[in-house]
Amino acid sequence: MKDSNFRNGDAKTAIFGSEVMLTPSPVDKIPDGPTTPEIAYQMVKDETFAQTQPRLNLATFVTTYMDEYATKLMNEAININYIDETEYPRIAVMNAKCINIMASLWNSPEQEKWKTGALAIGSSEACMLGGVAAWLRWRKKRQAQGKPTDKPNFVISTGFQVVWEKFAQLWQIEMREVPLTLDKTTLDPEEALKMCDENTICIVPIQGVTWTGLNDDVEALDKALDAYNAKTGYDIPIHVDAASGGFILPFLSPETKWDFRLKWVLSISTSGHKFGLVYPGLGWVVWKDKKYLPEEMAFSVNYLGANITQVGLNFSRPAAQILGQYYQFIRLGFEGYKQIQYNSMEITKYIHQEIGKMAPFVNYSNEVVNPLFIWYMKPDYAKNAKWTLYDLQDKLQQSGWMVPAYTLPKKLDNYVVMRVVVRQGFSRDMADMLLGDIKNAVEALEKLEYPTPTRIAQDKNVPVKGKVFTHTAMSNAKK
Ligand SMILES: *Cc1c(COP(=O)(O)O)cnc(C)c1O
Repeated sequence: MKDSNFRNGDAKTAIFGSEVMLTPSPVDKIPDGPTTPEIAYQMVKDETFAQTQPRLNLATFVTTYMDEYATKLMNEAININYIDETEYPRIAVMNAKCINIMASLWNSPEQEKWKTGALAIGSSEACMLGGVAAWLRWRKKRQAQGKPTDKPNFVISTGFQVVWEKFAQLWQIEMREVPLTLDKTTLDPEEALKMCDENTICIVPIQGVTWTGLNDDVEALDKALDAYNAKTGYDIPIHVDAASGGFILPFLSPETKWDFRLKWVLSISTSGHKFGLVYPGLGWVVWKDKKYLPEEMAFSVNYLGANITQVGLNFSRPAAQILGQYYQFIRLGFEGYKQIQYNSMEITKYIHQEIGKMAPFVNYSNEVVNPLFIWYMKPDYAKNAKWTLYDLQDKLQQSGWMVPAYTLPKKLDNYVVMRVVVRQGFSRDMADMLLGDIKNAVEALEKLEYPTPTRIAQDKNVPVKGKVFTHTAMSNAKK
């Protein structure tokens, strides 16, 4: 075989005629020798063949569409390490400009030319940085007072995203959870304050709760906290986890006060790769003023008269996302972002309304405040149904849609819900296709003569949570 190729000089074994395509891909050990780039490419490509079309994946919050020029810019910057500031000083400046823009969208009062913030790999890192800063500030103050610093805690609703559990465990800071209930669908300020004490480093309201799409009322929390701090002499601050809302509220609800206009909001984090409209991974965290960023967390680089503050858990990191974010700011401007977020919201409201009309379903909330919402099965309908939302999830997957079903957090965990996140790239036409597929799936499920396994599990009160497919849906929900 080798000889005939060799003799022909220009002949080359076709990719799928090669021996490599008859061997399993390496699992434990690096292969003995090289193969051609074409074959290596094909193998990797085939193994990562998307199981769902990214744009039919209504589970994820993360950007799956950017225009051609954004994609080109980001691809061209793929070999740039952000941390090489001396080599790419302009990128550090561009990063600082993005932070300035974020700070201004969130009404930062900071007077410095360069606002205080940091680039992150996503909201997770950004939340960690906000949380660590709050902890270090609290610790410093306690140390100055000669008080113990061994039992810090923070307060958040049970609707927290998994990063806050990581933060609690990695830094050993107690997480105090305010339960969400059907009556209290968002963080209750009074309940939150009841959990506070001298060891509370911060309260974390969420804008765009991952599980429900709702917003905690930061203004009410700030007001209640102000009175509480005055009464107790504490100065417990707020970090807003605005992973989704940070890029929705400034454009669609500029009058809502949730940001630095509020007294106790000292830091805010968001995901640039969610409604910031950039491919993963990008997050931002901004502090209200330089004085709220502990010195231990920052080191300064002076370039072109700009004092750029660097903060982060990692050292090396990709720079392409900064170019992507800055491109989006220039390309879209305020109006452009507003139009895109408006369309996503309108399409969400449309699906929400149509789902609300379907006999088996009821929406979790009447209002839609972010481009996502959840619904569940009407209890009366569920009593006689031979299927569950997990079955609907499976059926929809057959038509290419990823629409996750999952159980709500503690206290509401007997509620199986389904969620749709609408992102740029999802049109009204696609919404109609989705709704059509949901109707067809429901029709088919209603014809079932025998209950499905998940339905049987439910009747036996077996926690559906333990099931493998539920786990997938849960991790989807946590994204
Ligand atoms: C998505 C999300 C996170 C985590 O963000 P990543 O960008 O995926 O790291 C944190 N908090 C909330 C509320 C989220 O929705």
